[in-house]
This record gives sequence, structure tokens and C-alpha cells, in this order.
Amino acid sequence: MIKYRLRCSEGHVFEDWFANSSKFDELNAAHELTCPECGSHDVVKTIMAPNVKAAPVQAPAPACASAPMCSNMGCPAMQNA
Ligand SMILES: [Zn+2]
Repeated sequence: MIKYRLRCSEGHVFEDWFANSSKFDELNAAHELTCPECGSHDVVKTIMAPNVKAAPVQAPAPACASAPMCSNMGCPAMQNA
């Protein structure tokens, strides 16, 4: 099963489940997709927004800003080495 976010010609957005990706095309070609709000059969598939938020960007390993002069005491870059 695959869920698509659909949008009708009037701009109503709704979601529906399909057995597979080609089932949407099949039903849409047969005009069997109907907007629940206005009944329009002119429905297009929108880009599916992920349900989960984007994974947090991994912070890069802390770079020692003062590497040449780092005394190795309290330097996070060196502590992780
Ligand atoms: Zn509609």
C-alpha cells in the first residue's frame, strides 16, 4: 500500500491509499478518483511530503579553531581523538 497526497483542479488536497504506484495511474485514467470536497475527477498527484521531519543534521566533528596553538587541555577536538 502506498499513500499519495492528491490535489483536485479546485486546489483541494486530500490523501488516499493505493495498492501500488501504478494503481493511482490506472484509477486516475479511468476517472475513478474523486475529490471528497467538490467531486472533481480532475485529480493530480502532489509531491508526497514526508511524515517525519527531516533528520537533524549531524553536527560536524568539532574543529579545533585554534589548532596550531591548542594546548590539548580542554580542546574538544583533541579529547575525542
Ligand atoms: Zn476539490
